[in-house]
Amino acid sequence: MPRYDFRCRSCGATFELRRPMAQASDPAVCPQGHQDTVKLLSTVAVTGTAGAGSGAPQQAGGGGCCGGGCCG
Ligand SMILES: [Zn+2]
Repeated sequence: MPRYDFRCRSCGATFELRRPMAQASDPAVCPQGHQDTVKLLSTVAVTGTAGAGSGAPQQAGGGGCCGGGCCG
């Protein structure tokens, strides 16, 4: 279930709520009981693209002995 961050404009508190996406835009009530809250941008990471760009092959002979001319 996605997690949403809210900020209370009455007391300045930020809090999280877990709720279905269908209720994402429903009004949230501050833990202190205030109802003047705004929804913050979600910080929930969409998983799937972890570890980008580490698959480049090493060039053969780079720094190797016979590639550097020290063998012959
Ligand atoms: Zn509040």
